[in-house]
Amino acid sequence: MNSLSVAFLGLGAMGYRMAAHLPKHFQQVFVWNRTAEKAQQHAQTYGTQAVTLQEAVQADLIFSCLPTSADVEKLIASVELKQGSIWIDCTSGVPESAKKLAAQLKQQHIDYLDAPVSGQTIGAENATLTIMVGGNAQAFERALPAMNAIGKLIKHVGESGAGFAVKAVNNMLMAVHLCAACEGATTLKAHGVNLAEAFECINASSGQSTVTSNILPNRVFNRRFPLTFALPLLAKDTGIALDLVREAKLAAPVIALSQSLVQAANGVAEDNSDFSTVAKMYESWSKITIE
Ligand code: NDP
Repeated sequence: MNSLSVAFLGLGAMGYRMAAHLPKHFQQVFVWNRTAEKAQQHAQTYGTQAVTLQEAVQADLIFSCLPTSADVEKLIASVELKQGSIWIDCTSGVPESAKKLAAQLKQQHIDYLDAPVSGQTIGAENATLTIMVGGNAQAFERALPAMNAIGKLIKHVGESGAGFAVKAVNNMLMAVHLCAACEGATTLKAHGVNLAEAFECINASSGQSTVTSNILPNRVFNRRFPLTFALPLLAKDTGIALDLVREAKLAAPVIALSQSLVQAANGVAEDNSDFSTVAKMYESWSKITIE
């Protein structure tokens, strides 16, 4: 058992499951959530301690997993932090914000790591997340035991902001393939091809991806569209990726177009839609159901 205290702020679809692993490795695990009932439920279920925000941030290691960097910035601005602690931000956030927060917290002798995760809610549940970390290398080493409790591949990818940048590009690649796979599926169906058989072939061929092997079969073809990763969060991530392209003054037409498509899908989606409902936009355009 690790004697450092650890806190988790933000018990959403990801955070609730990630924080559940910490009591197996740490004696003292604090949880805080904006809606306090979720933290109390977490404490009862997993043996964590539901505390106030100010109490939670007195931990040696502080995880956060909120929707956006703006939410994390507001949270940090509202508390008094403890010298020597490490803030491990698992939000899929904005690289510039990570740089700003790392510099700001350094003044207070606190390390800030941008440590976004990938692997969906199932990866959070099984502690098999990929964690891409930006920030001070020594802080990364000190935070590694806590990150090991929730992740499988945990990689220091560079200075502050690098973790968020890798995550944004990763999700952009997924979005590109989601759009492309929906276009491929409607095209095949328009030509009378059975999608189950077509995708069995594609999944054994060079067009295979997480989208073709997992997202479409388990969310779209079966019409379930389970809400585990909200569409506005994907739209946020593709926006971050496009901002990175623009900041670097690069030409990236595929990224720009995919960002527009995800924004358009988000614009017409019902409230509380999963990211896989991008498929519904293609269905309404083509009048073809992707099943
Ligand atoms: P959810 O919407 O399920 O949860 C968001 C959490 O943040 C909730 O605990 C919510 O509290 C809290 N919250 C929201 N706004 C604020 C605020 N202003 N101040 C304090 N707390 C706030 O999101 P996810 O767990 O799905 O996602 C969290 C992050 O992880 C996002 O950046 C997302 O992009 C990323 N991510 C998500 C994945 C997924 O599959 N879902 C996969 C990988 C990364 P309350 O309970 O009160 O609403």
